[in-house]
Amino acid sequence: MSELAIFTEADKSRTILLPWLSEYYSPFAPVIGSLIGYKIENLPPSNNLSIDLGLEYANNEICYPATLIVGDVIQALKSNKYKPEEIAIGITQTGGQCRATNYISIIKRAMEHAGFSNIPIVGIAPSGSMFNEQPGFKPNWLKIIKPVFQAILFCDSISRLYHATASREQGSINSKKLRDKYIQLGAELVGKKKGSKLLPLLEKAIDEFNEIPIINSNIKTVGIVGEIFIKYNSFGKFHITDWLIENQIEVVLPPLMEFFMQAFVNSKVLEKEYINKKNSFGFVSDILKLLANKHIAKYEKTLTKFKYYRPFHNINHSAKLASEILSLNNQYGEGWLIPAEIAAYSKQNINHVICIQPFGCIANHIVGKGMEMKIKSLYPDMNLLYLDFDSGMSKVNILNRLHFLIQNIKLPRGKPTRH
Ligand code: SF4
Repeated sequence: MSELAIFTEADKSRTILLPWLSEYYSPFAPVIGSLIGYKIENLPPSNNLSIDLGLEYANNEICYPATLIVGDVIQALKSNKYKPEEIAIGITQTGGQCRATNYISIIKRAMEHAGFSNIPIVGIAPSGSMFNEQPGFKPNWLKIIKPVFQAILFCDSISRLYHATASREQGSINSKKLRDKYIQLGAELVGKKKGSKLLPLLEKAIDEFNEIPIINSNIKTVGIVGEIFIKYNSFGKFHITDWLIENQIEVVLPPLMEFFMQAFVNSKVLEKEYINKKNSFGFVSDILKLLANKHIAKYEKTLTKFKYYRPFHNINHSAKLASEILSLNNQYGEGWLIPAEIAAYSKQNINHVICIQPFGCIANHIVGKGMEMKIKSLYPDMNLLYLDFDSGMSKVNILNRLHFLIQNIKLPRGKPTRH
């Protein structure tokens, strides 16, 4: 088998193609790329061909998000839309303990099998070079920490405005229009290095969302938790949030920011449990956490002007709730965040929660489904629906289970049925 091309200094002008994550976060990727001197382009959202190609070019025992991502990449390369000498493939790397850290090797192998070993691949993460030889990709990460942070806060906020309003509006047409308009305006501001203007833009968005005529304000709520990729990726989760919205159920999604804030707690836990002394990064981490919380507080204050405002918990509080369910040493996959989010929903009286899990994801089955009994013992009113998604999953089966969930929601409180 031939060796895959390396991303060298001479490849800096190549367009880096990035698999699509979601309509909230993905539009910011090209502008963030431009801030560090790289041209990034989003691939289109996944479709059925992504599944077929993912299964053909990757081992069918890999997790479902990896199948979709491999399929997206191979589909793009086979489309003849791109000149091989002008592109590279980009993939974000978490450096975590699950398969997410192996995406580069899985994609490389698929590209070699499909005959694209002449196209380099780039791991997009501060630790990317640990997993890949890419001497031409050396972005100044410090330059983009702040804009990335501001962009995520802004996208999380627009997501909250959209999900709370869309289910109360006839056909969610205005909500969708406003969502797309403000995501585009936000991305333009970040591209012009005007991230500080995102907060005033959010205020305008709140005013406009507050004006949308609603048909039903007294609706029931479902919380969503689960694996990061399919939780935010509409195709990956079979568009179930759209289906719930169409059925006038308010969907509450956790903010992406929580995933990153979790790292502050995780490093403290590891420091205490395994190193047993303070390291020099601890001090920097404390300062970064302080700054992050200051920013989050500003966004939360602004969001209180939204008529369906629902507060989110501070990460320390979430960690405390999680520690009553499992050890905070569980840091693989979404780690302790899944039980923490379920517990936080319960504290907000959201007692119907869907946990989205990909087939082949051992990590999240442990911290998700594996915690069901403990969660039920602490929160007996909690009605948990675990949905496993994979490439061969029947949509009818998923919809059947959602229909049962909705019927349960309409029952008088305190009589949930287990799924
Ligand atoms: S968390 Fe699970 S589904 Fe996601 S990349 Fe890791 S193993 Fe795959």
